[in-house]
Amino acid sequence: MSVYWNTRVTRLSPYVPGEQPGDKKFVKLNTNENPFPPSPKVIEAIKKAAAEDLRLYPDPACAEFREAVAARYHVRPEQVFAGNGSDEVLAFAFGAFFENGAPVLFPDITYSFYPVYAGLWGIPCRTVALDEDFSIRPGDYRVPSGGLVFPNPNAPTGRDLPLGEILSLAESLEAQKRVLILDEAYAAFGAESAVPHINGHPNLLTVHTLSKSASLAGLRVGFAIGSGELIEGLCRMRDSFNSYTLDRLALAGAAAAMRDSAWYDRINRGVIATRERVSAELSALGFTVIPSKANFVFVKPPGGKGNASRGDVFFGALRGRGILVRHFNKPRIADYLRVSIGTDGEMDLFLAACGEILAEA
Ligand SMILES: *Cc1c(COP(=O)(O)O)cnc(C)c1O
Repeated sequence: MSVYWNTRVTRLSPYVPGEQPGDKKFVKLNTNENPFPPSPKVIEAIKKAAAEDLRLYPDPACAEFREAVAARYHVRPEQVFAGNGSDEVLAFAFGAFFENGAPVLFPDITYSFYPVYAGLWGIPCRTVALDEDFSIRPGDYRVPSGGLVFPNPNAPTGRDLPLGEILSLAESLEAQKRVLILDEAYAAFGAESAVPHINGHPNLLTVHTLSKSASLAGLRVGFAIGSGELIEGLCRMRDSFNSYTLDRLALAGAAAAMRDSAWYDRINRGVIATRERVSAELSALGFTVIPSKANFVFVKPPGGKGNASRGDVFFGALRGRGILVRHFNKPRIADYLRVSIGTDGEMDLFLAACGEILAEA
């Protein structure tokens, strides 16, 4: 608290990101980074951009990158918005499409940045409980609301909702002229993307990031795909805040990443294969494993029943062995851990540590 803060800043409850340890002693499975390096073409493009025109402002329209996204997703560049990480795109989208009135809905267990954006913009929101098995019950969202936002697959559960259900929710919101923000941060890892359906659904905004599926968390690039109307709304927000959200290096690297889908299809198939193996091995160790379509698994160590601190204890035991995962100290999921999929070698270290911890318990 400070006397210099205005009421707006005093009332904020900021997001707390996962730990980024300064030393490299940890096996880092806590922030869903891709374990594989980005395409070499990305590095080449960034080096070239660094050698050229840093003296000049970047292209505020992000034209080259948006064209690369449009080509890859078979949409028009006017249907693409580029931002400084998808977190920024989401913040703009909340500001552009939601407002004071009927509450915006999202699941009780989901990306914890959503309530933060709602708080920032003063948007009322209401959480809707996931089913016992952590699946979204679409019927619960077919009510009057100020709009809807959720990730598909959901985070931190990793569960996906069938595309038909998503499109039907978009239609029920369209009847109220409200927007569905669909956060596809993890869609490259096995869920079906809604992008091919944006033309029939003018109120559906899909949000994407290069952080996870393109191994570029350090570059900070995200984008949205949706109707021209929605994209124009996002541009109005951005241009009332900062016209140059993406720098020249990020734009060059991001465009190169979009064009090298062969590289990314290959590494992400590797992530999926490791996820399936790790899921099977954790099940064999007695863990409850929520079926995942993401680059992480959401798991409950065995013997956690009735002991609310078990997730905490297991998290600490892994940390003590040099392995960082994510634990959320929240109702319903305090016994669970979210484990990002690393390389096969990293996951072997993780599985061995789990075996040791269970043997000692
Ligand atoms: C990681 C993540 C984001 C943010 O991605 P950035 O592009 O790195 O800002 C957004 N939504 C969900 C669900 C995520 O897990």
